[in-house]
Amino acid sequence: MLLPDSATRLAGVVGHPVAHSLSPAIQNAALRHDGRNAVYLAFDVPPDAFGTFLDGMRAGGARGFNITLPHKAAAFAVAGKRSDDAEATQAVNVLLFEDDRIEGHNTDVAGVRSALAELGVPEGVRALVLGAGGAGRAAARALHGSGAEILIANRTASRADGLAAAVSGKAIAWADAGGVAADLVIHATSMGVTADELPLSERQLQSVADRGCRWLLDLVYAPGETALVRCAREAGVTAADGLSMLVHQGAEAYRLFWGAQAPAAIMRQAALGASGRPSD
Ligand code: NAP
Repeated sequence: MLLPDSATRLAGVVGHPVAHSLSPAIQNAALRHDGRNAVYLAFDVPPDAFGTFLDGMRAGGARGFNITLPHKAAAFAVAGKRSDDAEATQAVNVLLFEDDRIEGHNTDVAGVRSALAELGVPEGVRALVLGAGGAGRAAARALHGSGAEILIANRTASRADGLAAAVSGKAIAWADAGGVAADLVIHATSMGVTADELPLSERQLQSVADRGCRWLLDLVYAPGETALVRCAREAGVTAADGLSMLVHQGAEAYRLFWGAQAPAAIMRQAALGASGRPSD
């Protein structure tokens, strides 16, 4: 491993809290693998210090940052130029410091696309997205334009209506989600991170499977397999949790930071190790 010197570049993740983030393990594994003279650190920055932090880091020559809660709205506002995915999702999770501007990107969209490909989901499926927050908007954007038929269910119906309209999809009532016929379910609510809670009951999951569901992508990742993924597999559905999306959104961030293809396989092994799972 290269020792830092006066030419070492800096990138990182900014959140509050941020100690749980797997991004430093994933990004530093890639930097080491590529022999790149750069380091990726985690910064715990409270909301009232976010602007000062960015100003200082930019003045000091940092390359950019992944942005996590609670700074996503502030990052969107500070970006002078936003990518199409950031505009479409109204969300920024990467800030890049360019010479004359700060760019805002959304790498979650690419992350969902790659995770779906890895799961073996073809284009043109009928998809049910559970959730209409940041992750739900990234999932809907990833499906939009791939010929998918998109159904959105969200606890707060007005948010499902808004997202469905934005992606030419159809909103359905949260209570009806378990009775839908769909090839693919993407879970994008914040349920299931810490507890064994399920956005769909085991009976509803079996019903969705019986109606022809073949794939489930849970955007949530937990130290082990999520309860939703376990139950989906028991119902005969091919399922993956959010670790795959996490790795692929990180690979896209790496590409943006350093202008080079990321070593995604190395990043995946680092993510598995950092989350206490056996390597593939
Ligand atoms: P968010 O913007 O705060 O949205 C939260 C979503 O969860 C909303 O749709 C909300 O519905 C719904 N929700 C929350 N509690 C609920 C409950 N008890 N019952 C039903 N719905 C509930 O959060 P986010 O950024 O979209 O993140 C959602 C999840 O995706 C998190 O677990 C996050 O870690 C994960 N994620 C993973 C990755 C990855 O790389 N794998 C990337 C981004 C996010 P309402 O609109 O009704 O409040």
